[in-house]
Amino acid sequence: MKQYKPKNRLTAQAYIDGVLAGNRVLLARAITIIESNLESDKILAKEIVQAILPASGKSIRIGITGVPGVGKSTFIESFGKYLVAKGKKVATLSIDPSSQRSKGSILGDKTRMEELANLEEAFIRPSASGDTLGGVANKTGETMLLCEAGGYDIILIETVGVGQSETAVHAMTDFFLLLMLSGAGDELQGIKKGIMEMADMVVINKADGDNVVMSEMAKLQYQNALHIFPLADSGWSPVVSTASAIKNIGIDRVWEEVLNYKKLVDENGYFEKNRNEQQIEWMYSNVNEELKRLFYNSELVKSKLKDIETAVVSTKISPVKAAQQLIDAFKGAL
Ligand code: GDP
Repeated sequence: MKQYKPKNRLTAQAYIDGVLAGNRVLLARAITIIESNLESDKILAKEIVQAILPASGKSIRIGITGVPGVGKSTFIESFGKYLVAKGKKVATLSIDPSSQRSKGSILGDKTRMEELANLEEAFIRPSASGDTLGGVANKTGETMLLCEAGGYDIILIETVGVGQSETAVHAMTDFFLLLMLSGAGDELQGIKKGIMEMADMVVINKADGDNVVMSEMAKLQYQNALHIFPLADSGWSPVVSTASAIKNIGIDRVWEEVLNYKKLVDENGYFEKNRNEQQIEWMYSNVNEELKRLFYNSELVKSKLKDIETAVVSTKISPVKAAQQLIDAFKGAL
């Protein structure tokens, strides 16, 4: 089958030069190529990412999560504007694996963070779409590298705190921020213990008006809850604070803590160690994904699946032996 090749593509070098020069239009167009599933674009994307790699990696990568409605976009708008006012260039990306399956995204199709989006020093890119979380995470990860090469000092990666996507964001960021609300237990907020454990900072948002006292109480509760966890490999003890994203209260504290964290992990070597481990993990998760894809797309495997499933269900063959037969068939087909 002849592959459709878009006519408006530039040469790889044009994208590379544009990204490195901080050209937002070319950055956005390069990201479109990364997000594309066309074979010709995949080749182009690899060339672009490889070339900009030496210029990437110099930002602070901050993951932000919390259930829908907690105030993520309001917070990012305030925080982003605060950082821009401090002279930073801020890129905001998101991972929203829901958009493909449900045809509507949890993060919302509404225009988010409009004021931030209008600033010259800010760049906002909604979530890439994809069939698998791994695929979406890959695209977001490469987009992050492009943004860094384009001179963005701070990368904010947002996700909803309801699935596996937080783990994906955690795996590609330096600092992990969890937004919570007062007056609701963890169960109510749908936040799993594992996510609490990943947090470097918990911010109780909407600490304004009648909610201030409750928020202070929630802060104490979370402080106690976090003390139970063993000290993280980073050597950092997670911080809990309150904020009002809408009233711009407590936003400076978040930045202060990010800087405190950065200082600590630069000094104790964790920053670099963690980045290195993340790179290696990223590689292996791609190997896993690709192997899986090759396996399930193998015609020989596909032709055997039904019969082997039937044999397993009728206990003619054990699941372990059946799996081995499929793997053997796959290896034979290579
Ligand atoms: P997201 O779904 O997590 O991105 O949440 P949004 O940022 O869209 O916020 C959900 C709702 O909470 C909106 O109506 C916001 O105006 C409101 N909100 C966000 N932050 C605050 C805050 O600090 N205080 C109050 N009172 N409302 C807030």
